[in-house]
Amino acid sequence: MQIHKIIRGVLNLMILKIKLRNFIIIVFVAVILISLFIYDESNSFYKSAYTVSATDKKYIKYVEFNVPYTLMDAAMKYDIKSYDTNMHFNWIELISYLAAKYGGNFTKYKSKHLDDLVAKLKAGKTMEELTNKMKYYSYYLEAYTAVLGGFLGEFEIEVPVKDAAEQKEWVKKYGLMAFSPVAKDYYYNHYDDFGDARSYGFKRRHLGNDLIGQVGIPIIAVEGGVVEALGWNKYGGWRIGIRSFDKKRYYYYAHLRKNFPYNKDLKEGSIVKAGDVIGYMGRTGYSNTENANNLTTPHLHFGIQLIFDESQKESNNEIWINVYNIVRLLSKNKSKTIKNMETKEYRRVYEIKY
Ligand SMILES: [Zn+2]
Repeated sequence: MQIHKIIRGVLNLMILKIKLRNFIIIVFVAVILISLFIYDESNSFYKSAYTVSATDKKYIKYVEFNVPYTLMDAAMKYDIKSYDTNMHFNWIELISYLAAKYGGNFTKYKSKHLDDLVAKLKAGKTMEELTNKMKYYSYYLEAYTAVLGGFLGEFEIEVPVKDAAEQKEWVKKYGLMAFSPVAKDYYYNHYDDFGDARSYGFKRRHLGNDLIGQVGIPIIAVEGGVVEALGWNKYGGWRIGIRSFDKKRYYYYAHLRKNFPYNKDLKEGSIVKAGDVIGYMGRTGYSNTENANNLTTPHLHFGIQLIFDESQKESNNEIWINVYNIVRLLSKNKSKTIKNMETKEYRRVYEIKY
């Protein structure tokens, strides 16, 4: 009887040990598998974010622009406020640092993180020191420089003279020099509609932001550049495509007004400045027939395509970014316009030089 109990006890203990050992092995294997998976995930992101061209040139092929409005706004303010000091904070670097820290997941963003970063820089740390262990910092810096690189800078602009508002004078500035795509004093509404389904022609995703307003509202060049496309497109209707001078951004303005879509001075190859009137809101498009008004709601379709390599311009791998937060940011800087009653054309009131 005693021996039986002892044997059973020993057996139970052995089974427990085996179970425990198995349990440890299972946990160990699972940890390895999970970490391999995570490692591979980050590597596959790296692989999918860049591509190598036939000439061995490595360039970015994928960008998801999801920087929160509040972060862009706060980082821009740090940049502008510090511009004339001996410690200038570059807003794109600040944003890229946080992007790398969050692994691109901006739901983690808190304003304190930006303030903490600026405090570290103020205390004497350099951006190189803070980012040298961040695997993806250089990727975000390059991607976001392509998006935002033309927005802040030094420029001269006309402003109304104090106490004599009908007169104008030139002032030198540093700040936001990109404009809202809709002229000052005109109402529009919009929401984040990037990626929504569209079905005219074939099923596809919406690659821009629709600014809903009235037919005839003056449409403004967000950034200066060269008119690369001007004419009819069966989706966009009357549309204009403007390439930034650094060639990284292609601005797309579509569904312009029937019969009188563009500023009449413009043609392919024309050079425009940020804040110029380029055309008028309408509801053309969704037709192979030119000048067809096939949209029910007048709106501007506004889009930004990023181009890191010329092969991307018209391809299956075009990079269109979500511009909703950018449009919100640009609404801080609107171009005032005036109508010429003879020509019915609008033009900007305050000229710009850079
Ligand atoms: Zn649209």
